[in-house]
Amino acid sequence: MRVSDRKSLLKARRNAVFYGILLLVSVATIAVIYCFRSPPPYYEVTDFTMGTRVRVVIASRKVSPKSLANLVLSEFKRLSAKYDPYDPRSVIYEINHSKGWVKVDEETFAIIEAAIRYARITHGAFDPTLGKLIDLWGFSDFERKKPTSVPNEKDIEEKLAETGYENVDLDRSNMAVRLRNGVWLDLGGLVKGYALDRAYNIVRNVDKDATGFIDAGGDIKIIGPKYGKLPWTIGIRDPFGSPSDAVDYVYLREGAIATSGDYERYFIENGIRYHHIFDPKTGYPARGARSVTVISKDAVLADVFATAGFVMAKDWRYVLVEFPKYGAHVFMVMDSGEIHKDPFFKVYESKR
Ligand code: AMP
Ligand code: MG
Repeated sequence: MRVSDRKSLLKARRNAVFYGILLLVSVATIAVIYCFRSPPPYYEVTDFTMGTRVRVVIASRKVSPKSLANLVLSEFKRLSAKYDPYDPRSVIYEINHSKGWVKVDEETFAIIEAAIRYARITHGAFDPTLGKLIDLWGFSDFERKKPTSVPNEKDIEEKLAETGYENVDLDRSNMAVRLRNGVWLDLGGLVKGYALDRAYNIVRNVDKDATGFIDAGGDIKIIGPKYGKLPWTIGIRDPFGSPSDAVDYVYLREGAIATSGDYERYFIENGIRYHHIFDPKTGYPARGARSVTVISKDAVLADVFATAGFVMAKDWRYVLVEFPKYGAHVFMVMDSGEIHKDPFFKVYESKR
């Protein structure tokens, strides 16, 4: 090898080492910047829809969080209009006021089918056919009017006779629904949960790394952990205290939480509290609990089981054993002030 050849070989080697180090340093710098870059800020908006206050707290690196929040709110508005039993343009109004089979769209069929399945699972404690009873009492999740007095007993009996989920026929091959014996659907016990799950899916389809949560009047779906890693702290309202008092705190990075409480919609007559969650056996507001909270993966499941758990409060032992089998973890505040929770619930009470 000539001297000049050896020199150029050495030079090439030196260059290779230099550029190799430069590449390593650049990659390491980018990695450090990536790891320690500040998380995107949270955008927050509140609107009134589906008869409740809907609060969206959301952050995204990919798209404007405001546009994601708008998607959430439009989905709530779409579902609110579609399933409001008192809006003559809604599909529920159409079904309730039709005799015989009514053809419905796939989404509506799936929701009603799910509602009937939950009614069976909860032995009718959750019953989506209480429409006429709820109308008589004047409570509805969609309407904002406030009832002030107990209807007379005879009317309650009459309307109660026109309830019962076994009066709903479903024909999947024709996508048709039929109500018998004068029953009316009211999906108020599940539609908020459904809207939360739908809104979550819409957001995640646009940005799978978006984080934040949606709070629909106390029913919450987590979009993603705070700043991408921390759990959100959620207070469970103390039904014996003021709206800002919490009886417990849970920490969630994902999933949903729903509470059914007797403080949401109620009036007091002769010192007795009458609220919006009905015992389908009696036609009167369910007794035994002040609030029931359920944590689960899906908001619709949490919503349904919170309502059902409230109705089944007197059978709280059964609730604590059976509901977790469906992935629903329960926290109950009883009339007496006692608290019952299933063994798994404590996992959510620690920050982990
Ligand atoms: P929530 O606040 O989720 O417990 O839902 C209460 C709403 O569900 C009420 O405003 C009614 O529209 C409806 N509802 C009341 N009682 C029942 C029940 N036993 N089963 C199913 N839905 C109910
Ligand atoms: Mg509910």
